[in-house]
Formats: sequence, C-alpha cells, structure tokens
Amino acid sequence: MAGMKGDERHGTVRDVRERLKGRLKGAILEDVPLSGYTSFRIGGPADLLVLPKDWEDLVLLTSVLVEEECKYVVLGRGTNVLVSDEGYRGVVIVLSGGLRRLIVRGEGEVEVEAGYDLNHLILRCMDYGFSGLERLAGIPGSVGGAVRMNAGAQGECIGNWVRGIKLLRIDDGEVTDKEITGQQAGFDYRKAGNLKNKDIIYLVKLKLDIDDVEEIGKRRQEALRWRRETQPLEKPSAGSVFLNPPGGSAGAMIERCGLKGLRVGDAAVSMKHANFIVNLGKATADDVARLIDKVREEVLRREGVELREEIVRIGFPEEG
Ligand SMILES: Cc1cc2nc3c(=O)[nH]c(=O)nc-3n(C[C@H](O)[C@H](O)[C@H](O)COP(=O)(O)OP(=O)(O)OC[C@H]3O[C@@H](n4cnc5c(N)ncnc54)[C@H](O)[C@@H]3O)c2cc1C
Repeated sequence: MAGMKGDERHGTVRDVRERLKGRLKGAILEDVPLSGYTSFRIGGPADLLVLPKDWEDLVLLTSVLVEEECKYVVLGRGTNVLVSDEGYRGVVIVLSGGLRRLIVRGEGEVEVEAGYDLNHLILRCMDYGFSGLERLAGIPGSVGGAVRMNAGAQGECIGNWVRGIKLLRIDDGEVTDKEITGQQAGFDYRKAGNLKNKDIIYLVKLKLDIDDVEEIGKRRQEALRWRRETQPLEKPSAGSVFLNPPGGSAGAMIERCGLKGLRVGDAAVSMKHANFIVNLGKATADDVARLIDKVREEVLRREGVELREEIVRIGFPEEG
C-alpha cells in the first residue's frame, strides 16, 4: 500500500466492497463518519466500515483484505481511540456489531467472543458466581478491546484471567487462525505485548474464581461508585489519555502542573480527572491532538517526565 495514490487506494476498497457484497452476513457501510463509533464522538469517515456478524464473516473479510492488499484497522467499542478528522483510508472492522456469543463451560470457565460488551460479561459472570472481573465494572469496552489493551482498574486487569486467545493473524499475505495461551500474550500494564499490531482477536477463554454472588455484587458496585466519583462520565472521552509512568500517576502530574481545565477548541482537560480529555461538544481530533501536545510539553518541562499515550491513534500520518 505504501506510496499508493488516492485513486488506486479507493479502487482497492471498491474491489473489497464488490467482493463482499451478497456474501457477507454483516453490514458494509461506505464513507461513514467514525465519530459515531468512538466514545470521544470524534473521527472523520472510513472508506469502508464492515461489521462482521460472526467468525465466518471475519474469515471471509480477512481473506478478501489479504488478496486485495487492503489496509485495515479493528475497532471494538472505540472507547480507547482517537480517530483523525480525515478518518481512515481503508477498511475499519467493527467487531462489537457481531461476534457476541458467550459460552459458560462451568467451574469459572467462560468462552466469549471479542465483540461482547465487557460490562455485560461482568454481569453474566456475577450471576454465575464467577469472580475476578468485577473491579473492571464500568470500563466501556468490548472483550477484544479489553484484552488487546489489558484493560484494568484498581489493581486488577483482564489479563490475569485470560487462559486462551483465538485470533486471526495476517502475515506475509496469509491469514492464519491461531490459538495462544494467556501467558503467550505477554500481558503487561495496558498491553498484550506479544500480539502483533494487526492481529484480530475473535474469542477469549477465561478462567475465573468461584465466589458468593452477593460479595461479587458488592465489589462491582464499589467499582462503579469509585468510577462515578472520580471520572467525568457525563462527557465524551476515551478514558485515560496517558499511561502512568513507572511509579507515578499521570493524572497527579497533570494536576500539579495546574492543567485541569486547559482547552484547545472544544477539547478540555477534565476538571474531575486530569488524565481525561473531554469533548465539550464540537471538539475535533486536531483539538485533542494539540491539547495532548501541550499537556505533554508542560509535564516534561515542570516534572521532567515524558508522558506516553495510552489512547490509540487511528488515521494519523505517524500511525504507519
Ligand atoms: C469513560 C471511560 C473510562 C475508562 N476507564 C478505563 C479503565 O478504568 N481502565 C482501562 O484499562 N481502560 C479504561 N478505558 C479505556 C477503554 O474503555 C479500554 O481500553 C477498553 O478495553 C477498550 O475496548 P474497546 O473495545 O473500546 O477498544 P477500542 O477502543 O475499539 O480499541 C482499542 C485498541 O484495541 C484494538 N482492538 C479492539 N478490538 C480488538 C480485537 N478484537 N482484536 C484486536 N485488536 C482489537 C484496536 O485496534 C485499538 O488498537 C476507559 C474509557 C472510557 C471512555
């Protein structure tokens, strides 16, 4: 794809669309604004947005993408991403529109497809008396996105409970269906370090503890309360913008620098949680990106620490 001119690239996307028409069960949308698919409510159009309904759809889609050498990116619920105002030239695969099967194997063992909502999963696990994920209650992602990002809160993270991951890997013009163990995923702070950039997680196997339903419920409620008290949930955002540096808190540093409330256009550093940037209404990706730069520069100048982004950028030139 590198060096391809706009017309040729659009030609590729058109070919993908034509080859999927009438064969894919899920929806295929053209030139659709990604702002409708992100929690920031920001993002320009995707050339093509595909919502595979199930694993067969995903296999068909990936085989066509490989044959047409078409660029793609995966989205779950779009709650940890910043999509550029120009949008995405290629195919955006939204997994939260399908792949939502949950199989309870018993004894804390659950298999869940990547598009399943994390909060629904936590509720279902609670009903069965399966404990482990309840402190993650309120994280608004999909299961696939949560595993990719090793989502966590209050000292807990999903990677602690993952026993297996099924994924499609596209490498050297070939699609491979792989299963890896949780250990092989290389879970670390907000990452599954051994996954490749373009891997598409489609199923996750979890092994949870068994506990009293009421106790799980209490911990879940406590997590939700903590979130309501500490996070600006009433405004669009993508959660924490920066990773916490080793031994420190990005939010505390930003707050010490007096940056709460700092604005670029309609993007503002939240007054409630300094590591959140909120969209006050009409914020653009450019507003957010410029605000991120300002915060990073100020924290570097005043605290001597260079903050790294947790949010994933999509459709920006540096993304590659
Ligand atoms: C209000 C708010 C609070 C939040 N609080 C927390 C928190 O406490 N802790 C925390 O960890 N996060 C938090 N987040 C961030 C976010 O919700 C999590 O990272 C979540 O797990 C992302 O899931 P998603 O489906 O939205 O992923 P997306 O945002 O859609 O994608 C994130 C990344 O994962 C990739 N990806 C998504 N699905 C797949 C898949 N199936 N296979 C391969 N790659 C995939 C994408 O390409 C992208 O790189 C918060 C966000 C908001 C808006």
